[in-house]
Amino acid sequence: MTTRVWDYLAEYEAEREDILDAVDQVFRSGQLILGPSVSGFEEEFAAYHGLAHGVGVDNGTNALALSLRALGVGPGDEVITVSNTAAPTVIAIDQVGATPVFVDVRESDYLMDTARAEAAITPRTRCLLPVHLYGQCADLPALEELASRHDLVILEDCAQSHGARQNGRLAGTTGRAAAFSFYPTKVLGAYGDAGAVITDDAATDAALRRLRYYGMDQQRSVVRTPGHNSRLDEVHAEILRRKLRRLDGYIEARRRIAARYNRALAGTDLVLPAVTPGNDHVYYLYVARHPRRDAIIEALRPHGVHLGVSYRRPVHTMDGFAHLERTGGPLPVTEALADEIFSLPMYPSLSEEQQDKVIAALHEVLRTV
Ligand SMILES: *Cc1c(COP(=O)(O)O)cnc(C)c1O
Repeated sequence: MTTRVWDYLAEYEAEREDILDAVDQVFRSGQLILGPSVSGFEEEFAAYHGLAHGVGVDNGTNALALSLRALGVGPGDEVITVSNTAAPTVIAIDQVGATPVFVDVRESDYLMDTARAEAAITPRTRCLLPVHLYGQCADLPALEELASRHDLVILEDCAQSHGARQNGRLAGTTGRAAAFSFYPTKVLGAYGDAGAVITDDAATDAALRRLRYYGMDQQRSVVRTPGHNSRLDEVHAEILRRKLRRLDGYIEARRRIAARYNRALAGTDLVLPAVTPGNDHVYYLYVARHPRRDAIIEALRPHGVHLGVSYRRPVHTMDGFAHLERTGGPLPVTEALADEIFSLPMYPSLSEEQQDKVIAALHEVLRTV
């Protein structure tokens, strides 16, 4: 039996009745688009965060792009973000015609280096877009301070950090808006594509509701500004409502698995994930670091253990972004990480037996690579 970096089938077996009941409820409701499940999920997801508004959209990329548009970020504007992220973070910036400006990440937790962000600010900078990568928050107090001093807006990319906290405060509650993905692998995952934006700002909420519905007003008849079709489906919304009630349980399971890895792999020459003081990590990914990363991955394959790499190519080195004239400074940490990081199997239903097999195989492989 192979163990993959992510798998949902055991979770589905455990939750099957509830998931099928959610599907059936929607299919029998007579309302397949923007019905009670979407509005219910929006309210419950916002309430989970203690915020006033939630807007369901079709995926995390569009959650980011629509947020940027709703915040008035567009052509001519610079958005400071990181290159050590999932490409969609940057796709969203590109989509609205703004320019991504990449800054390096910290050696300690692989998250945005706030000092570098400050150095990258120009008169064109409009937005700070920190990515709470792997499941813990970037340095939000420092970013808030920076934003207020330079009159910038913060949009948080929370696609990997549902339920993460920093100094007790939930990811997604610091910026003007926060974008979430519910791509199936995420900490809160749908059974297909889905996303949402949360905000306390009524104007941002109203703009998002128009943008996801062709740009039409509340009565849905007149286009104010041409928008998109980026609606969250009822069926995913209802599944997400059910799963939101279990989110804290999923996070607990992820933390338990991470703690077992931490104990079992301490003393190896892997660099294990560090939790930055003040952060409560939700371990979307359990990311380790080793200079012989690719050899380890290869050697584990015959053991039936499949590791992932998030991410093998920093976004600024991808052909699609070759046109960008500059980064927001040198990116030595980002570039070194891309060659050395890898992700161990991590999902709430990973059994102890499976995890022990992964750990044993890793110990064996680390003796020889
Ligand atoms: C998954 C992810 C996205 C994009 O979400 P989709 O739902 O796949 O569009 C954006 N940013 C980060 C950091 C992600 O991990």
